[in-house]
Amino acid sequence: MTGFPLLLDVSARRVVVVGGGTVATRRVRALHKAGAQVLVVAPSIAAELVALDVACERREFTAHDLDGAWLAVACTDNPAVNAAVVAAAEQRQVFCVRSDAAPGGSARIPAALRRDDLTVAVSGGDDPLRAMALRDAIAVALDLGELPSRPARPATHGGSVALVGGGPGDPELITVLGRRLVASADVVVVDRLAPRTLLDDLPDSVEVIDCGKSPHRQNLSQEDINAVLIARALAGKRVVRLKGGDPFIFGRGGEEYLACVAAGVPVRVVPGISSALAGPAAARIPLTHRGVSADFTVVSGHLDPGRPAESGIDWPGLAAGAGTLVLLMSMDRLDLIAGELIAHGRPAATPSAVVHRATLEGQRVVRAPLAELAAAVARAGVGAPAVIVIGEVVDILEPPASTS
Ligand code: SAH
Repeated sequence: MTGFPLLLDVSARRVVVVGGGTVATRRVRALHKAGAQVLVVAPSIAAELVALDVACERREFTAHDLDGAWLAVACTDNPAVNAAVVAAAEQRQVFCVRSDAAPGGSARIPAALRRDDLTVAVSGGDDPLRAMALRDAIAVALDLGELPSRPARPATHGGSVALVGGGPGDPELITVLGRRLVASADVVVVDRLAPRTLLDDLPDSVEVIDCGKSPHRQNLSQEDINAVLIARALAGKRVVRLKGGDPFIFGRGGEEYLACVAAGVPVRVVPGISSALAGPAAARIPLTHRGVSADFTVVSGHLDPGRPAESGIDWPGLAAGAGTLVLLMSMDRLDLIAGELIAHGRPAATPSAVVHRATLEGQRVVRAPLAELAAAVARAGVGAPAVIVIGEVVDILEPPASTS
């Protein structure tokens, strides 16, 4: 069938689905979502389908079920019944999809994909697997920004800010949603530790604002960043604030969120894989492990551990516990922190590791007992950015005292 591609407005229109199994459930879910007034007819109807809250009649199909219908879907596992549905539809000039033998029906359901107001429908010459494969490939390309999905004319939408967690650094470790928002942004405000290679593919028209070149030299203050997010959004731009890891873990994302809300700018938050989780995983260190550790604590070490009042961190308490410790921003004070933990009861022999540039080119892992970690790191010449892991889990999957 060559066919004539068409998008149907089924809202509040009667659509009759004959069949009550998994195929019917899938079809009914999509029709219901599109607003159709669905009637399901089948002697037995799956609980999942009943739960969709559409009209269900548990009985055999009769031709009159199609009276007044705009569309019929025959998806029973009985070819004779499906054929009868097709025949009844034909008589009433109602289009009919037949799922067991597509050429038998007068309509096809394409493999479809929706992104915002965009619909892509693929029909594969009655080969649904081929259509689905192409649909999935288009979905990936769209989400990666490889297809021109942005409107050709200037958008009429209002401006907005998305606080996007970029993950630990490997550009493949951002979420699909984050990737898509970056690909369709007008402005990207980016951090030093965010997956910056994602920006290489952006069109020249996208404004990229760099927030920080090095850990100790910020290009822009937090107030500057908040102000630029708000100014661009109020000018009608789609602004992506691309941050390393998760936006709400030591990323000052909360402050940016509050600033946007106070300025009346719509703001959304897209979680990311924090380096606190990705760093250990990249070094094959499970933060919890049955029988070894049932909890972990993520701590920032950027303030002096000798002055708990300043940092608000209970180092003696953390030292006394048995859980895994994950330290961010701690490389400058590694020996102080290790000393503090040992002084308050963590065994000096506790397996520990430093994961430098996790998931990035040049990733390095240094393992040593807690008491020797700072010296081992200095010998290896490893600095920030790094995640430090302290606890018995460090040696569970990998041999101790190795450097890679
Ligand atoms: N919001 C980020 C953390 C920002 S604080 C997140 O959720 O990951 C910056 C600290 O994160 C660095 O000092 C370092 O401790 C850690 N970090 C970020 N990216 C890292 C990476 N690729 N490898 C190792 N540590 C990293």
